[in-house]
Amino acid sequence: MIKVEQQKRRAIVTGGTRGIGRAIVKELASKSCCGILFSDVVFAYNNCDECAEELQKEIGNPYTKVHAFKADASSFEEAQAAVDYAAEKLGGIDILINNAGITRDNLLLRMNEAEFDQVIDVNLKSVFNYSKAVLKYMMKQKYGRVINISSVVGLIGNPGQSNYAASKAGVIGMTKSLAKEYASKNITFNAVAPGFIETEMTEKLNEKQREALLKNVPLHRLGTPEDVAKVVGFLVSDAADYITGQVINVDGGMVM
Ligand code: NAD
Repeated sequence: MIKVEQQKRRAIVTGGTRGIGRAIVKELASKSCCGILFSDVVFAYNNCDECAEELQKEIGNPYTKVHAFKADASSFEEAQAAVDYAAEKLGGIDILINNAGITRDNLLLRMNEAEFDQVIDVNLKSVFNYSKAVLKYMMKQKYGRVINISSVVGLIGNPGQSNYAASKAGVIGMTKSLAKEYASKNITFNAVAPGFIETEMTEKLNEKQREALLKNVPLHRLGTPEDVAKVVGFLVSDAADYITGQVINVDGGMVM
């Protein structure tokens, strides 16, 4: 008989209703992976109540609790409220996945202040908001796994995405700093840097743009949300206990 409770973890995922975040919620809640058997999950989302309900129903797993909480990741107070809700519902927090992200692409000459600020607030400040909020729970128990979803664009830059690239490079700098600050408390921080993944974020690309992109991807396909979720599943598992401060590219070999 498998002792599910014994190995269960408690996770909070931001931007959980679609794309990569949704795949991560499913990975954590419904798969047994790498030494972990299912996690209880709270996912935070900022719009689409029906999507949140639908995801909860879809997971429908007798072994796991899955709750949704509406919160804007860029708001310090709302992030705190989401984390407190998760800790109360699940009895603590072991895992934080900072996944919420947006793009507001434009060449710098045309980019307005709001486009810059929004991207930094949702993609980078949210990592500050949520990391700070979970620390009080993780420090006490001397255990925590934090995964920040960055992007290869944060490593190599991209024309039209100076705001996005800055936010994602910032996420990497923050991941490494926090890995050093909290290693002594057995709290690890790692980043995952996806390349081009098939989600609503990339569906705006036309065929010509896709073909051009694929020329630079040795595995010659776009990634799937599940490609990213599986790596996150590994990084929060016991198999990755000795890994912290790293950036793992999930990009079909695009950046190496
Ligand atoms: P997506 O647009 O499908 O999903 C983003 C999620 O973030 C959505 O659920 C959205 O509601 C949520 N979100 C946006 N603003 C929010 C806010 N203020 N508060 C709370 N939630 C908010 O995009 P995706 O492709 O699934 O992206 C997920 C993450 O992966 C993002 O951080 C993105 O930058 C990163 N990423 C994606 C790709 C890609 O090719 N799709 C590549 C590299 C990195």
